[in-house]
Amino acid sequence: MLIVFIGPPGAGKGTQCRRLVDLLDIPHLSTGEMLRAVMEQDTALSRYVASYINAGKLAPDHLVMRIVSQKVKSPDCTNGALFDGFPRTMVQAQMLDDLLVELKRPLDVVLELQVPDEVLIDRLLKRAKIDGRADDNDATIRERLRVFHDQTKPLVQYYSKQGK
Ligand code: ADP
Repeated sequence: MLIVFIGPPGAGKGTQCRRLVDLLDIPHLSTGEMLRAVMEQDTALSRYVASYINAGKLAPDHLVMRIVSQKVKSPDCTNGALFDGFPRTMVQAQMLDDLLVELKRPLDVVLELQVPDEVLIDRLLKRAKIDGRADDNDATIRERLRVFHDQTKPLVQYYSKQGK
């Protein structure tokens, strides 16, 4: 089963995804976690990725796509996968569709988690105090929400039209 999970930053995608993967026994592919793993190294690539993420911007589509396509083709994902925070742009959604056509494995379902912006800002500021994530500060949080409404939210309609 291949599932896409869409939701704004701070909606609780990670938490709900962990519950779903326990239930469905498929791997949880969080592009945010994968990108943070890249940032933990000290390389030109990690600095390149950090320059986007720590400013609340999206990492470049081609880079995210390369990471995801390697994962999807790996044996871990034979039974499916739950995509958390991916795709996040129309370009990524189209690239994912192309990849899944190539693999002859269509998406089964797309889930959207809705939370009002005021609640998200409050939660993310609280998370900042607990986790100390560099991208959880007031300016970056507002930028991430803006990017979500601008670039990610249109995917809901894109997938609705596909009947997902
Ligand atoms: P949140 O849902 O709180 O934004 P994530 O862990 O999903 O947290 O993502 C953290 C950051 O990682 C995002 O703000 C973005 O910069 C980057 N990121 C995650 N997934 C993608 C993606 N699919 N495309 C581009 N950038 C991404």
